[in-house]
Amino acid sequence: LTPRSGHPILKPVDHTVDRYDLGIVGGGQLGRMLALAAAPLGLRCIVLDPDPACAAAQVADTIVAPLNDAKALHRLVTSAAVTTFEIEHTAPAVLSSLEDTGATIRPSPRTLAVVADKLRQKETLREAGLPVPVILARTAPGRSSWTHPVVQKSRFGGYDGRGVAVVPGGEDMPLPGDTFVETAVEIERELAVLVVRDTDGVVDAWAPVDMVFDSTLNLVSDVIVPAEIPEEVRRRAVEISIATARVLGEHGLVGVLAVELFLDRSGRILINEVAPRPHNSGHITMESSQCDQFEQHVRAVLGLPLGSTALRTPAAMTNIVGPPHSHSGAYRVIGRRQVLADPTAHLHLYGKPAVRPGRKMGHVTCTDPSTADALSRARTAAAAVAFAPSAQAKGDVQ
Ligand code: ADP
Repeated sequence: LTPRSGHPILKPVDHTVDRYDLGIVGGGQLGRMLALAAAPLGLRCIVLDPDPACAAAQVADTIVAPLNDAKALHRLVTSAAVTTFEIEHTAPAVLSSLEDTGATIRPSPRTLAVVADKLRQKETLREAGLPVPVILARTAPGRSSWTHPVVQKSRFGGYDGRGVAVVPGGEDMPLPGDTFVETAVEIERELAVLVVRDTDGVVDAWAPVDMVFDSTLNLVSDVIVPAEIPEEVRRRAVEISIATARVLGEHGLVGVLAVELFLDRSGRILINEVAPRPHNSGHITMESSQCDQFEQHVRAVLGLPLGSTALRTPAAMTNIVGPPHSHSGAYRVIGRRQVLADPTAHLHLYGKPAVRPGRKMGHVTCTDPSTADALSRARTAAAAVAFAPSAQAKGDVQ
């Protein structure tokens, strides 16, 4: 199966479906977990992804074509009652015209247009009176003339720390392309609040989480719920995030919205960025809350009643990423036995076709009344997972 632009290929898992309930743009781990959450509700999903072996292909039918392929997007939205996203870097103009001709796309491509441009996203939130870091320049100069560190950011396409550079005073701006400059925040901790907005405009929030970053990989390494913050900070974080969902609601937001926040050293909360879809900071809800982010997103975009966001148990999640010196390519997972030896550990592997250094391959969540214990166990469990080159893939499941 080789995708060629203009020639979307349908890779069916099930030949009996003539109309899907949910179309998903993107077949990575988020698309996979959305399809897995839809299954017990008796809902069928179809994903669009350029890779026939994408993470979601094992659990959903797949249209194999680039994410911005107009024909493939047309096929996706006409095959499904509702179409949603797991990634915001697609073709908003194509999707907008499909929406204009009657396709049900949630969140609306208008939301994507606001969010996919990080500068427009920040300005939209700031104009609505929400707290964001100060924008120092809408286009970056070649060299910083500021005397203090500033942050240069790509307007489009950056994720997982790519597209963000802290630039000390007087130094050259390293990022190419369309970029802007904002103040460097003195970060006390990074938080995230997951919120959901339904088709009637009702907004609900899960408990704020702490996000722990791996500064070498520039990735979230761990997520902890509930965040260890004073009640006043918790209340304010939730308030800001709900207000953010209401602002984006005016641009057609329906579904889950992840709001990444900074708590700065003076106790202020600032919005770093938002994502109108399930998010790494919300994987923990699969074990920690009554209704998790994936099922909730499915419910919201299909216009079904929302589930409860109430906390069921404190928990910690650790990402499993391809190790720094990992081989790149096909692999076999080893270490399941050690992970599952902890009866509170929940292992989620994404079934990606290849491992690469730094690539998110899965995560482990541990539950415990003590978040410190949950975190230490989740880290131990995640560290036990390894990816052997598949040539060595012989013998029992390990
Ligand atoms: P990405 O979407 O690529 O993950 P982010 O905007 O979330 O990019 O930034 C990645 C990380 O860079 C943040 O989690 C934070 O640690 C740091 N960062 C981003 N913006 C700022 C800022 N204005 N001040 C200080 N640190 C920042």
